[in-house]
Amino acid sequence: MIRENCGIVGIYNVKDVPKILYFSLFSLQHRGQESCGIIFSDFKNTYIYKGMGLVNDVFSKFDFEKYKNFGFGIGHVRYSTTGSPDIKNIQPFIVEYKGEKYGIAHNGTLVNSYTLREELESQGTLFQTTLDTEIIIHLIFRSKKESFIDKLIEALKKVKGAYSLLIFSPDGIYAIKDPNGFRPLCLGKFENGYVVASENCAFDLIGANYIREIEEGEILHIGENGLKSYYLQKNKISRCIFEFIYFARPDSKIFGESVYKARKKLGENLARELQFKADLVIPIPDSGNIAAIGLAEKLKIPFEMGFIRNHYVGRTFIMPFQTSREIGVKVKLNPVKEVIKDKCIIVVEDSIVRGTTSTLRINELRKAGARNVYMVVSSPPIKYPCFYGIDFPTKNELIASGKTIKEIKKIIGLDGLHYLSLKGMLSSMDLPDDEFCTACFTGQYPVEISDFKGKEQFEK
Ligand code: 5GP
Ligand code: MG
Repeated sequence: MIRENCGIVGIYNVKDVPKILYFSLFSLQHRGQESCGIIFSDFKNTYIYKGMGLVNDVFSKFDFEKYKNFGFGIGHVRYSTTGSPDIKNIQPFIVEYKGEKYGIAHNGTLVNSYTLREELESQGTLFQTTLDTEIIIHLIFRSKKESFIDKLIEALKKVKGAYSLLIFSPDGIYAIKDPNGFRPLCLGKFENGYVVASENCAFDLIGANYIREIEEGEILHIGENGLKSYYLQKNKISRCIFEFIYFARPDSKIFGESVYKARKKLGENLARELQFKADLVIPIPDSGNIAAIGLAEKLKIPFEMGFIRNHYVGRTFIMPFQTSREIGVKVKLNPVKEVIKDKCIIVVEDSIVRGTTSTLRINELRKAGARNVYMVVSSPPIKYPCFYGIDFPTKNELIASGKTIKEIKKIIGLDGLHYLSLKGMLSSMDLPDDEFCTACFTGQYPVEISDFKGKEQFEK
């Protein structure tokens, strides 16, 4: 199984289905750049389109004019930084059952997939992919229950972990959130139709209005008769706080709360904790931008863009030739010497994971003539791996695991380093403190990790 964080979207009773799915996936591109795909229906026939690469490239030859009727469908963008990119793992994952096509798109990671897959394989189930998502489909159709919804509920009761799911079925779409509510998923409305998506940043673009977040343990069916909800038994609510820190787009609402507002508050709360005096606050774009605005405003220190970003570089930038990591980092951001030279600078970073990128960035600032460089981080030290869908490396690779702040400061080459406190982070959110998953900072895992065998547990 490959761990991944992804973006999903589903629409129902909308004209130009592939076009609307395309725009939505394009807006969710930050959630996954490796591959993408859609499955859709015009209420008569079902169509599938998938490919490796960015949304724009995958759909460059797609004939949108051919599918202008009303219909419904789901789409997925996939982010997987480990394992070789593999065509077989492109989602939505699609199967046929009794002459009908079904598709599933998943954001999150199951924590008991190893055991479930072994069980299924020992019963003769043949898998086509190394996705944990495929397990859910097998469980659904192995169920002896009569109706699809009962089969689905029985299957979901067996899986554990993080899943925001969309299922494409002949009678519409099912939008599902796990009982802990790890990953975001929200509902929007068109004049006569609906949209469900990981984030609502595409809603303006596609002409939909935001309605609400899907609840923890909710199974929302969108079909001919409108909306109908079923519920799994709720667990401890554990929304991923890292979605606010880094992953989601600031113009999105996730878990019903504005990402922009939360990030700005992270910056304001950082200001309360800081001792450093400086001439300038600069962000490491883009993920550090909003927190840096909040910090500079509260400290009453000028905010400047000390790094300029090349906008044609995505989150994961792959060059067609082998080169050093240093060059890779430099291609994306370049310091503005006129801003930096002889200045005492506070650099705002949203998170430090391995510390390698940060080290290279700070070195760039030194070369550009910075007098002093302090780094402030709008989240606490990441010490523990995520088993619920964020692709953090193993414990050993996390710089903050087993190292003191002083040691990290030295490795990165800083004059000062401050991480936002756990309390400062939690109080930046409007949602209740005890309804977040903070496992990567605290090691307190809300769902027990029973049988995780490594990122590539299903690969030979
Ligand atoms: P580091 O200094 O640990 O090498 O990199 C820190 C940077 O990685 C931060 O700017 C942060 O925004 C970014 N980052 C955090 N989480 C992720 C992730 O899941 N994927 C990618 N590509 N970057 C991340
Ligand atoms: Mg960043």
